[in-house]
Amino acid sequence: MFHYYREAFIRLFYPAACEVCHANLDLEEKILCQHCVGDLDALAWPMEKAMTDERFEHLDHAWTVYAYGSPIRELLHGVKYARKDYLLKACQKRAAGLAQAVTSDFWYDAILPIPIDRMKLMKRHFNQAEVLATMLEPWLTPPVERSFLIKHRSIPSQTSLSQCERAINVYGSFRLKHHAKVLGGSFLLLDDVLTTGATANEAARLLKLHGAKRVDFMALAKTAPNLEKMRFLESPSSSSKAGERTIPVHS
Ligand SMILES: [Zn+2]
Repeated sequence: MFHYYREAFIRLFYPAACEVCHANLDLEEKILCQHCVGDLDALAWPMEKAMTDERFEHLDHAWTVYAYGSPIRELLHGVKYARKDYLLKACQKRAAGLAQAVTSDFWYDAILPIPIDRMKLMKRHFNQAEVLATMLEPWLTPPVERSFLIKHRSIPSQTSLSQCERAINVYGSFRLKHHAKVLGGSFLLLDDVLTTGATANEAARLLKLHGAKRVDFMALAKTAPNLEKMRFLESPSSSSKAGERTIPVHS
């Protein structure tokens, strides 16, 4: 009760705004207003459609929580370009639900957040996939291994590349820290966005090259190359109007 009054007092002088549409937040609202929470929920795949219907050479299965559109787009922009890692909490409940369902249906030896290179880490101050893994960790039985996979070289921007060009671009960009632990193992890779799957597929290729039995992938949102391209043509600070909906990229 004390916290409630303290929060009410603070909000009196410093009103909190929705991170997407900037409407004032009610006392019980965090990060997003009710309207944007509704828009976010509308992007979530029903559990039976969370598995993507695309084929990847080295990934056995890929799951995503949301279709890529507003407001997940603005939330992930905020995470990546404004260092607002706390925005991922808006996705916690649904992401935890899917992660829990996937890890209870399939055995994994470890959850592996997709790493970012050192330059990106210095710029961003955190790896969003690791933040996501930490957020989901209480709901997961398999351990989260944060330094299992290492991205040892930065790669040129992928935004204007085709699926095939992306695969070439990321080839050889990962290395393994614990080769011996891979043989016969099953792993779930974790990242914020699935675009063409080239990055996760390359991580899976390396794991399978060292004897992994199974490699799956889970991402918060599934986009398409053309949408991804459009996203980067906008400035990071630009955002769509509240309530704008992007048509889900798969049915
Ligand atoms: Zn809002």
